[in-house]
Amino acid sequence: MNAELISVGTELLLGQIVNTNAAWLAERLASFGVNVYRQITVGDNLNRLAATVSDSLKRADILILTGGLGPTEDDLTREGVAQATERPLEMDEEQKARLLARYQSRFGNMPENNLKQATKPRGSIILPNPNGTACGYAVEKDGSWIFMLPGPPWEMEYMFEHEVVPLLNKFFDLSEHLFHRNLRFFGIGESALEMEILDLVKNQTDPTIAIYAALGEMQMRLTTRAKTKEEADRKLDGLHEKIKAIVGQFIYGTDEDTLFSVVAKQMQAKNLTLSLAESCTGGLLASSFTDLAGSSKFFKQGWVTYSNQSKIEQLGVKAETLEEHGAVSQQTAIEMALGARARSQSDYALAVTGIAGPDGGTVEKPVGLVWLGLAGPEGVISKELNLRGRRDQIKLRSVKNAAYLLFDHLKEKI
Ligand code: ATP
Ligand code: MG
Repeated sequence: MNAELISVGTELLLGQIVNTNAAWLAERLASFGVNVYRQITVGDNLNRLAATVSDSLKRADILILTGGLGPTEDDLTREGVAQATERPLEMDEEQKARLLARYQSRFGNMPENNLKQATKPRGSIILPNPNGTACGYAVEKDGSWIFMLPGPPWEMEYMFEHEVVPLLNKFFDLSEHLFHRNLRFFGIGESALEMEILDLVKNQTDPTIAIYAALGEMQMRLTTRAKTKEEADRKLDGLHEKIKAIVGQFIYGTDEDTLFSVVAKQMQAKNLTLSLAESCTGGLLASSFTDLAGSSKFFKQGWVTYSNQSKIEQLGVKAETLEEHGAVSQQTAIEMALGARARSQSDYALAVTGIAGPDGGTVEKPVGLVWLGLAGPEGVISKELNLRGRRDQIKLRSVKNAAYLLFDHLKEKI
């Protein structure tokens, strides 16, 4: 089975937006064992769009277009496919009613040009879009299937999973799928990780192993080909166990886990609460935890104490500590953590203080020096980090390290 992807939009050609849709679709299709042979980007131009579709139809079993399904003049995907498949556009009454109802409930009377979004190339299947107004379409041409999906990534992804995947399974035999499992590592570098599992990497056939570095952390993707999830899990479990036996202490999670979500799980499992005292990360740690739905169950409070004054007033850091050791020091990190824990009455408090750069570094305290403090019922611990990278990377690495410090600590305690 082979597919081609056509991304529609002049914005893409001008480089104003990055084509994440094609990358996402390519990865998903690969997981079904569908070979993506071409990815094409075409602007909002009817004739070029229609010609591109006609051309791809000569080769591809599956054609997926994204974008250009909106109500405006330059949204031409419907028209382009209609022209290429010689299926005239016609009104879909059900879709028209849905569109009118949706529009009226929000904005009042609908402008005439929006009706475009209720038309479809004759004989196509409408793919509902619960996340937006532009519905998608599936239409057949000489045994090939064309799918038209909206441009906004979230709408496109949802429609692909809920509408396109079931249709692909109906129209084509996709019985051998690729299955992945992502193992997530922290505290070990790429080459060290590869060296540790070198024998497994060298002898890989099925499942295969791929290692990726992702800003301060490592991911290992295990991939296998199988007919069912159960069969895949059996194969993946076997390799997963072998890897665990070698580098298990660095694994913090799998697949969709993040350092923040695994900490959240630990905290909720034991009904623990957390507060944060941040300096150089400016609230990024609080933001990362509160990105998780349900974070109110464990996250109590956070301070962004950027100035010395605020560290003293808000957290009770001693003036002498700041004078003697400086704001970026083990002592300050410890006092920040203790102060945050006491004042918030939380079970744990994490503190981060460091020099994110590009300025402000000295020989003794270079850019990238970060101190973490963690206060809990067992007492207080601290950790020194020497991070590399730009300001934003140092901030991101700091919050990941902070979360990992807590994760690692709780792993032993609970
Ligand atoms: P709408 O009804 O929102 O206009 P549409 O189907 O007409 O949807 P476009 O107008 O082509 O889609 O794109 C809408 C937005 O979706 C773009 O501004 C962009 O933010 C995003 N988008 C479109 N195509 C892509 C793509 N290939 N990769 C990533 N984002 C995209
Ligand atoms: Mg549009």
